[in-house]
Order: sequence, then C-alpha cells, then structure tokens
Amino acid sequence: MTEQEQTGDTPELARAWGELVRTARRTADTGLVVGTSGNVSVRVGELVLITPSGVPYDRLGAGDTVAVDLDGRQVIGELRPTSELPLHLAVYRSTPAGAVVHTHALHATAVSTLVPELPPVHYMTADLGGSVRVAPYALYGTPELAAHMLDALRGRTACLLQNHGAVTYGDTLGQAYDRTAQLEWMSRLWLTAHSVPGLTPSLLGPADLAAAEQQLKGYGQGR
Ligand code: 13P
Ligand code: ZN
Repeated sequence: MTEQEQTGDTPELARAWGELVRTARRTADTGLVVGTSGNVSVRVGELVLITPSGVPYDRLGAGDTVAVDLDGRQVIGELRPTSELPLHLAVYRSTPAGAVVHTHALHATAVSTLVPELPPVHYMTADLGGSVRVAPYALYGTPELAAHMLDALRGRTACLLQNHGAVTYGDTLGQAYDRTAQLEWMSRLWLTAHSVPGLTPSLLGPADLAAAEQQLKGYGQGR
C-alpha cells in the first residue's frame, strides 16, 4: 500500500499538503516564526488542510496530513490540529480565502503593541485592502481571539493580533505568504521611519491608496 492509500489522501489533497508543509517551513526559514509558533492552512473544496499543533515543520512529512471540515471535525489524520483552528475556520466561513497564514513576525508583532493600526506608510498597504488594523488582545486559541480578528479583517486581507502576531489570507498559499512577508516589511519600515528622533513619517491618503490598488491590478506580467 502506498502512503497515499494509507492516509486516504487523494492526489489533490497530497499535492495541497505538500505545498502547505513547504509554506509552513518557509515561515520558519525566513524568520517569520520561531520554533512551532504560527500555523498555516489551505482550503480544498469543503476541507481545510491545517498544520498540527506544536509539531516542528521540518518533522512534517507526506503521511502527516491533517484535514478538518468547515465545522472543525477532523476528517484526516491522527495529529491534533493547530490550537488556532477557530481562527482559521472563522476566516474561511466569512471570506473567500483559499489559504491562511498566521505568524509571530517580529516587527508586525512589535507594531501590534504600539498602535491600533499600522499607518499607511507604503503603497503596498493597498494590496492588503487598506491600513492594517490591530485586533484587541485575547488568549491564543480562543473563539474570542477569532472574533476580534474577524472584526479587524473587515475589508482587509490582513490584520495584526495585539501582543501576539499577524494573520493574512489569500487565494493561494503563495499569496497568503507574500502578504505576510509584505506586512512584516511594512511594519519594519514604519518602525524604522517612526524611530528617527524629531521627525514623523509621511503617510499616504485614501486617494493614493485607491490609485495604488488600481495600478496593482495590472502589476507584473498581467493576469
Ligand atoms: P500551534 O502550535 O497550536 O499551531 O500554536 C502556535 C500559535 O501560534 C498559537 O497562536
Ligand atoms: Zn500565534
């Protein structure tokens, strides 16, 4: 019996799990999390593949698939899903997200302790739907944290979790990861500019962000 037959994965699920594990490892390899912090999920039809709780990403293999349905019932796997399952499910129930990335990225988390939203210091704010709000603190893994996050996510694809970290979503794992990396970079940018004594960073206005959002639709090689 192949590993795929043993776990009940279809080729589509096996491919999605492989991409999820690579994305989770990337968050650790690029310094967006330390140890087993953070978690990653991807939607495949009515299932959500999700990282298990407290397992180092470099120990996850092809046979470790964890999948739940949209009510949180475990459908595949023995490992217990991430403690932030309520947060991930809340995103899938309320947005068109195809993938969700949660990290404890250093600069994003620092910003979450200082201000109620990340000021729009850069045009890439437009890719996240506007100024990134900070969800008020609640204990990790709780429905309360998930509710605060959903509130902060309104009209956005990213938010910060006060004294905790960041959440982004996208159509794909790649897009959700890139948004987290951009959010971390913009957090670092604002902290850097903001910490120059006697000077205050200039900010972009709604018209600048609307123009950037429009321009970004044609960015790169087109779609
Ligand atoms: P898990 O290991 O359960 O995914 O928890 C990490 C985390 O970031 C909790 O907020
Ligand atoms: Zn966390």
